[in-house]
Amino acid sequence: MKVSIVVPCYNEEESIPIFLRESKKVLETMQLSDFEFVFVDDGSKDNTLNVLKTLVENDKCVHFVSFSRNFGKESALYAGLEKATGDYIAVMDADLQDPPALLPKMLAALQSEGYDCAATKRVTRKNEPVVRSFFARLFYKIMGFLSDVPVVDGARDFRLMTRAYKNAVLALLERNRFTKGIFPWVGFKTKWFAYENIERVAGKTKWSFWKLFLYSIDGIIGFSTKPLAFSALCGIMSILLSFALIAFIAVRRIAFGDRVQGWASLVCFITFFAGLQLFCIGISGLYISKIYTEVKHRPIYIVKEER
Ligand code: UDP
Ligand code: MG
Repeated sequence: MKVSIVVPCYNEEESIPIFLRESKKVLETMQLSDFEFVFVDDGSKDNTLNVLKTLVENDKCVHFVSFSRNFGKESALYAGLEKATGDYIAVMDADLQDPPALLPKMLAALQSEGYDCAATKRVTRKNEPVVRSFFARLFYKIMGFLSDVPVVDGARDFRLMTRAYKNAVLALLERNRFTKGIFPWVGFKTKWFAYENIERVAGKTKWSFWKLFLYSIDGIIGFSTKPLAFSALCGIMSILLSFALIAFIAVRRIAFGDRVQGWASLVCFITFFAGLQLFCIGISGLYISKIYTEVKHRPIYIVKEER
């Protein structure tokens, strides 16, 4: 029985050696027949690739894939899962925010409790900026309402899965990959483990507020078509409103013989509906842009070097 650990790395030169040391300590206590690490260098600009090359020289359980440029964590995960050969495959961040100490319990859930996947979520958002926590919570609320798959608040990408689960994830060939949606979408039986938020050991987070915002839009567009229905609904509501207004103005004209009035209200209506129209066109545009990137069928990642 072999366990593979897939680790996406972007500028993680400091974290990788610490991560490897700490995770190995845990794996060695687990009585596994074999284990391997698949590091994916996602076009790092620091010394990550050299660090990985040295590790591969000295340690036969270490492998790596290095991308030609930064393709994003989602692509790195895909490449790592493809390369992993274990019976059980774990996905972990390089910064030790995903505690390796959980691995034995997660493996037990898969081996003896009949689960196909062990997933993790953090129960606290301690040490996180307040504004970010607020918007993160808001995102999960909106996502919960819009999406067809359950996206769990605080879910991490840290998971241990069976080979069948991994193959199901790899079978989803979309270019716009939103892992937080893909994992629940494939189904299977998942057991959740909760833990407190942990600070990264070294380096800094790659997620700016703006990047997170765009990522959340990707998630909504990728896993829900409700915004499209919403724009159609806006159209219908406007038509109904216009009927009511027509009736109102006609009655007022016939019954009271009113003169033409209402320059201000006219301007308000025009600007409001011009805005609403552009907003709805924008929603359609977002979906079209996703179709555009999908139909081009570009590869999910490009490998420069692997070992
Ligand atoms: N990562 C990556 N490609 C990217 C950004 C991040 O492979 O473009 C990796 C990163 O090296 C880390 C993991 O994804 O191992 C999570 O990133 P990070 O710790 O910055 O995110 P956070 O934990 O702050 O959400
Ligand atoms: Mg992190």
